[in-house]
Amino acid sequence: MTTSPGAAQSKRVSVVLPVYNTGGCLRELYQRLKTTLESAGYDFELLMVEDGGRDNAWEILNELAARDTRIKAMQLSRNFGQHPAIAAAFENVTGDIVILMDADLQDRPEDIPLLLAKLSKDIHIVFSIKQGSQESFSTRLTSRLYHYVFSKLTRTTVPRDIGTFRAFSREFLDAVMAYPERNILFGPLMFHVGFQAETVTVAHDERKNGKSGYSFSKRLKLALDSILSYTDLPHRLLLNA
Ligand code: UDP
Ligand code: MG
Repeated sequence: MTTSPGAAQSKRVSVVLPVYNTGGCLRELYQRLKTTLESAGYDFELLMVEDGGRDNAWEILNELAARDTRIKAMQLSRNFGQHPAIAAAFENVTGDIVILMDADLQDRPEDIPLLLAKLSKDIHIVFSIKQGSQESFSTRLTSRLYHYVFSKLTRTTVPRDIGTFRAFSREFLDAVMAYPERNILFGPLMFHVGFQAETVTVAHDERKNGKSGYSFSKRLKLALDSILSYTDLPHRLLLNA
């Protein structure tokens, strides 16, 4: 059962965006989010967390936040990474429904209603599957390999080409935030926490400006942290030693 549009629109939507060197597309990102959410009739807030980048994103965020009080701009004291930036925003969410997406316009703001339409009283999380993913061949290969290994080790089925872009209920967020993890990785944790899920296939656009915030070593660290923290591989290796 899907929630009727009327019921959904009476809910407040919190959009969470970690920002790292994406100053060049923040004005367009804001405009497109505003147009989409306003025309769908949602009350919303945009939680934008600047993760210690080297560009002018923080100035632009402040300029936007001065014009629109629905923007909550936060800044981390240095570059902590995508997941700590997301955690900082999650701690400040006031909405009933949360959207998590990237801030480089690879996830399209116009697709938010597609994700929201699939949330219901039974479905607490809607994951996006990236169609025509614009990642480089090596990034796609490492991410598919990671998902394959992760699915095998955790005995869960992680869909191929799953994106960061997702919508979930306040109850789901509360369950995720109840974990005492210090080094949270939201990808694995959001699979681990349970609840009924749905998926929706969305387009994945090219990066609007700049280059990926992930170097190969950052990506490798993420994959290793996920496997070490969220699978039983380390225990199995120790027991076999
Ligand atoms: N990001 C971040 N801190 C980082 C790296 C990335 O907050 O150290 C954010 C970035 O602004 C974007 C999201 O995480 O909103 C995904 O990063 P990116 O788009 O660079 O990754 P890719 O699309 O290349 O996998
Ligand atoms: Mg990106």
